[in-house]
Amino acid sequence: MEKKNVVIHDKITIGISACCMGSPVRYNNKGWDMLATLGREKQDFMWCPVCPETMSGLGVPRDPIHLSGGDGLMVLSGEAKIKNRRGRDVTEEVLLGCGSCMETLKRANATAYIYMDGSPTCGVYRTSLKKQKRGNPPGIFGAMLLDEEMFLIPATDVQSPIKWWDWRRRLLAFHWFRSLPLENKDDLYKAWYVLKFLCQEIDDTFARDLGRKLADLPKNVEEDTMKSIRKEILETLRKPSTVKKITHSLWKNYSYYRKTKGQEVEGINSPDFRRNVTTIAKELLLMERTAFEEEVFFATSPVIYRDKRRMPKVEAYDAEMDEEIENTLKGILPEEE
Ligand code: SF4
Repeated sequence: MEKKNVVIHDKITIGISACCMGSPVRYNNKGWDMLATLGREKQDFMWCPVCPETMSGLGVPRDPIHLSGGDGLMVLSGEAKIKNRRGRDVTEEVLLGCGSCMETLKRANATAYIYMDGSPTCGVYRTSLKKQKRGNPPGIFGAMLLDEEMFLIPATDVQSPIKWWDWRRRLLAFHWFRSLPLENKDDLYKAWYVLKFLCQEIDDTFARDLGRKLADLPKNVEEDTMKSIRKEILETLRKPSTVKKITHSLWKNYSYYRKTKGQEVEGINSPDFRRNVTTIAKELLLMERTAFEEEVFFATSPVIYRDKRRMPKVEAYDAEMDEEIENTLKGILPEEE
């Protein structure tokens, strides 16, 4: 089987807590532009900002709200309430706001959501912004997002070049695999062949177990088995990797590149070489781009996005890719870099 990266040309739609995209919709009339660090890469996605509290009709500025008597899941099941600072019960309004934002995300066909953790509404793993306190996670909208099995990215991770790189590559793989038609065992094997290395990096035990399970599959695989395997792989792709694992994968992929092409790439360092995460992110982008140009499989980032209109003719290709990587780095690197 030919080893090749999957290239997708359709932009992925990402929902985002509107206050993290610069809208001053928080209770105190504030917001942050957390996407500014992405630079030109921001154009590679379609964004769908929503604010469930504003859609509740509570207005800006408003009294802050909190979960009372349970977490967001319990609010959804009617066992807990949402109250504002004055003690007014605003459960009904907030549920309507959350419902209407979820409808918007579905209409937009959003695959992922960048959430503001620490919010009683959009928070997933924290519903309090106070240091050390987790609150009562998930928040109300956070609970809905979990229920919809969205690919969930904490907004603070977008600020870190290496964390964002990790989230982006897994998101692309997740998006591609989620809607990939799987009609038979062959389709599943082909997809696993593309995703195996990345899944091994994230969770080696899972990848080994799944490899064994796939080898034992009968000729005709039941639809339910196919669905459950797809679910397990998607679950794994949702999990973040670590800098250590990423650095080792980069080196393995680079070694494969050197063996295949018989040439080196200046600037890629071995895992033992001490450098900061920004430098590692630079190396990853360089290797990703080089492997794509040279048509060598870069297994740690197996699905990549390229705008069809920006797929240049061969002679213009190098210059355009140089400009693209420079712009991406300009967006994610701190000033002094
Ligand atoms: S965290 Fe969610 S509900 Fe709160 S202001 Fe931001 S978008 Fe609105």
